[in-house]
Parts: sequence; structure tokens; C-alpha cells
Amino acid sequence: MTTNIAIDGPAGAGKSTIAKRIAQKLSFIYVDTGAMYRAMAVYLLRQKISAQDAAKIEEACQSADITITYEDGEQQVLLNGENVTGLLRSEEVGSMASASAPNQKVREKLTALQKKLAREADVVMDGRDIGSKVLPDAKVKIYLTASVRTRALRRCSQLEKEGVQVSLEEIEADIQKRDELDKNRENSPLIQAEDAVLVDSSEMTIDEVVETILTIYRQRECT
Ligand code: C5P
Repeated sequence: MTTNIAIDGPAGAGKSTIAKRIAQKLSFIYVDTGAMYRAMAVYLLRQKISAQDAAKIEEACQSADITITYEDGEQQVLLNGENVTGLLRSEEVGSMASASAPNQKVREKLTALQKKLAREADVVMDGRDIGSKVLPDAKVKIYLTASVRTRALRRCSQLEKEGVQVSLEEIEADIQKRDELDKNRENSPLIQAEDAVLVDSSEMTIDEVVETILTIYRQRECT
């Protein structure tokens, strides 16, 4: 039996940074499930398939092969054998991922891959439905959130570091739109699982969040 930690929450809450650190500390594997939805989005964009075209998306689920490998501990996503990891972070791909993620076939395909990875190794997995749907038996479930303003400020400073000029208002609006889509969709909406611990990182440093989650993990280990 493997040991799994599920970290869910809205866009920009710091899930990937926190999950990566925790995985490092515990020698678990970090699994970024958003990257899988993004890889599927790259395929749909390339094939010029609309997020509303359910029939075409169903076909695409058959022809898009998505696999995960690790290079120096970093997750790599392969789309039909091509490493697309470097293409996943654009706003265009992010929007397509949110728009196509509600599709049931897309979710079935990617959650099967996620469950397989969690059966094979101890993982810290982040996403939207990990605690509620993908890994209902995870040892620790965290719902990591932060205010819209905090998340927008973090995203702005990250983009500015990358040399991209952005407006805080636009980023805030984008985050709000993505929250709406993720929380209100019919299939696997973003929700706090009943047995998940809520961590609001608005006023916390990364180290404090990591320590909070590790403390919860150690307490569970003793029970
Ligand atoms: O986390 P990230 O922003 O990379 O995820 C991109 C999109 O993929 C999210 O906005 C969400 O709609 C979708 N997603 C999902 N379920 C997951 C992970 C991501 O629906 N487990």
C-alpha cells in the first residue's frame, strides 16, 4: 500500500510550490495533475477542437496519449511521445484546460492515469478533485486557498520576474473566472473534501504552510 497526500485548491493558491517541497522532504513523488489537463489542452488547440465539441473531444481522448516521466525529479508530460512540458504554462493553454476539464471523458482518462501513479508510488498530488474523487483514501487531504487579491499579487510578481508586463486587475479577473468555472462545473467541481483540512495561505509564508502540512502528516502517521 502506498501513502498519498492530496492537495486541492483554486488557481494560484501555491499548491505546486508547496506540494513540491513536501514531496522533497518526505521523498515522495510530486504529481501535478493540472499539467495533464494542460497537455490535453495543447492537443485540442493543435487540432483546433473547440472545448464545447464533446464528440470531437471524445475522439481526441482516444488519439491523445498522455504519459508522465521524471527527469532529475521533475515531472515531464509526454503527448504522443513528445515532451510538451515547456508549452504548458501559457494563459491560452490554461484557459483551454479549464474549459475542457469539465468533459467527462477527459476526466475519466486523466484520473485513471493519476490513480495508477498513486498506486505505484508514494505521491503528493495536487489538483482540484484529488481528495474528493481521485484519492478518497489519501492519508492527508489539504484544501489550500488564499484570497483572490493575494493570489493575483503572487501571479503578477511571478510574471514580472519572467519579464512579462501584466495588470493586476486583469489577473484578478482571470483568477475569478477560473474559480467560477472550476467550482461550478457539474463534473468533479473544486470543493473541499469533507475530511480535508483547510489551510488559508494568505498571511503565511511558504515555509509556514509546508510546516503546517508536515505537522498534520506526522500526526496522522502516529494514528
Ligand atoms: O492547476 P492548473 O492551473 O495547472 O490546472 C489547469 C486547469 O485544469 C484548472 O483550471 C482546472 O480547470 C483543471 N484541473 C482540473 N482537475 C485537476 C487539475 C486541474 O479540473 N485535478
